[in-house]
Amino acid sequence: MENQLTTETARLSLVGKHSHAIDFNLPQSASNSVEEVMARLSGVLQTTLEVDAVIELFHTEINKVLAYDSLHYQNQSSHCEISTGSRSRHSCHYRLEMNGSWLGELTLTRSKKFVDSDTQLLEDLLCKLVYPLRNCLLYREAQAAALQDKLTGLNNRGAFDNSLKREIDLAKRQHLPMSLVMLDIDFFKAVNDTYGHGGGDLALKKLADSLIDSMRASDIAFRYGGEEFVLILSNTDSQAALLVAERIRVAISQLNCNDGSRTFGFTVSLGVAQLKHGEKGDSLFSRADSALYKAKKAGRNQTAVSA
Ligand code: GH3
Ligand code: MG
Ligand code: MG
Repeated sequence: MENQLTTETARLSLVGKHSHAIDFNLPQSASNSVEEVMARLSGVLQTTLEVDAVIELFHTEINKVLAYDSLHYQNQSSHCEISTGSRSRHSCHYRLEMNGSWLGELTLTRSKKFVDSDTQLLEDLLCKLVYPLRNCLLYREAQAAALQDKLTGLNNRGAFDNSLKREIDLAKRQHLPMSLVMLDIDFFKAVNDTYGHGGGDLALKKLADSLIDSMRASDIAFRYGGEEFVLILSNTDSQAALLVAERIRVAISQLNCNDGSRTFGFTVSLGVAQLKHGEKGDSLFSRADSALYKAKKAGRNQTAVSA
């Protein structure tokens, strides 16, 4: 079943599939009548900008007027997946969209079939959800953009600072090794001078793609600044990190960039450091940086490991 609802201020497209049946009475109490829940829902949902929290609040409120066993919300493009309760036999599914923006999919399930009065009520309730949900998704997008490097799409330096602390804490708690790999393009000024800033930017993008291809799922890559990159390798000691670094170095040395008329390549130098017992992020970073400096001094296009 498909429904197209138009609210006064926005076009809200709700595409719903649900089962039809006969008997279902809305549970209502004096303090939680449909009117009361409807009246306060928008206000309640506007108290947060976190998607998880807004869905949780929505669930708590609507569950007072509409009985169901599970609620599942999913928005793949925003990497959101939220579930409460356990799935039952009958489901009621909505694709949420507002003014052309995709807001995700919501599914309710329960053992009794949903009847028209349930879906009508749910659609009224969903109308209260869409604005707050859209605000949460925009906020989430803005937060993600603030941590992303525009040119390469990798995480940026701000993200690195957050992640380094978190990964060090995790490694300590789990008594697992962790390593940093720092990477700097060799003679990048010459690349820019010869092939222009556009050629240099292309090299940076190619390098980022190659990093992603060479990494394991648990590794995290960052553009630290200019032509410097850093990788956090969890559960990795310096020997294994050296292998990763060398694999990356060789892969990058084989890249071909084309500025429209000329094809060129470039190399990188890398520094590796493994987290020491009780060591802080600053110290680990500075040891990886010193190792990188050693690799540069030793002739570039190579990896050095911190003692
Ligand atoms: P080295 O081998 O010692 O690292 O030599 P290098 O020429 O790479 O030296 P350095 O690291 O000092 O040079 C960095 C250069 O990177 C300078 C700057 O113009 C260039 N750069 C930094 N950010 C960008 C960028 O976003 N795009 C482009 N095209 N160039 C950048
Ligand atoms: Mg540099
Ligand atoms: Mg350089």
